[in-house]
Amino acid sequence: MTIHKHTEIPGVDTINNYIGQTPPKTVDIGAVAMKALQQAQTIGLHKWMAIIPYCVVCKEPLIWVRNSKLLFKCPKCGMEWHKNGNWNEEIKGILEKHGK
Ligand SMILES: [Zn+2]
Repeated sequence: MTIHKHTEIPGVDTINNYIGQTPPKTVDIGAVAMKALQQAQTIGLHKWMAIIPYCVVCKEPLIWVRNSKLLFKCPKCGMEWHKNGNWNEEIKGILEKHGK
């Protein structure tokens, strides 16, 4: 009988750093991408899991910003995630797709 040894990895260690790359100061995110992230979070919640965005450079959970063009910021390196320039058009598309 073969015994398979399993390996346990702390979740934060599954984050792949961009080794040797300089991270941008800001990252643009579209409304469609944010919607997909929110859907993943909702699915996770229904399975008793929190899906939380982390900075891949610092492996730190991001600070969420509400009611702003700024969506997230890293508490360690200061990198920021902003709504992209097509945000409002993408929101309209999402709402039309869902018949609202
Ligand atoms: Zn960071």
